[in-house]
Amino acid sequence: MAETESVGKKIWIGTATGVLVILITSSLIPWLRENVLLPFVRALCRWGAAIGNHLTSSATIPLWLLWILIGLSGIVLLRIASFILHSKGNAAIQPSAQRLNWHSFTELVYEGIRWVWQYDSSGRVTEIAPLCPICAYQLDLRHDARPYDLQAITIFWCDHCKKVKGQLDGEYEGIRIRVHKEINRLYQTGEWENIVRRQMAARK
Ligand SMILES: [Zn+2]
Repeated sequence: MAETESVGKKIWIGTATGVLVILITSSLIPWLRENVLLPFVRALCRWGAAIGNHLTSSATIPLWLLWILIGLSGIVLLRIASFILHSKGNAAIQPSAQRLNWHSFTELVYEGIRWVWQYDSSGRVTEIAPLCPICAYQLDLRHDARPYDLQAITIFWCDHCKKVKGQLDGEYEGIRIRVHKEINRLYQTGEWENIVRRQMAARK
């Protein structure tokens, strides 16, 4: 008996709640629409129209003020442009931070003579040649001997400058091997990178 009563009570409460919700929403939603939503939309439209009118209307300002504004805009644009160029310039200088290719090391000055060489397909140093450090002409070799002990010497002659560019102890083959060993030493110590960077800077 008590169970039936409680079920009836639940139905009654549920119906009452439903009616109340319908009443509230049916009266509240139109009220919200009229008093909140529509005024808000109207205000938004008015605001947009006012900004549009303001932007499309023309203003009269003195020419001196116009020129000042143009000048200021120009200065700002130039500053931005120089900033961009400067950062690009830095990026261009930065390659010093990049690793260099070992094969870009193809010349050095040793005993006052400019030596150049190439690399074969397996990366070995080949075709070492002496050049004049002034005019880059390939030097001619003259074999001679020291007058007092008759030890072999090699004289490097520039036929372009018409001058002796160096005189080194030993046969040319021995000198060439010394240059090759110097190239290997510079490679092992990593000094070759500094030499290549200096050469690249000098060519700029
Ligand atoms: Zn020369």
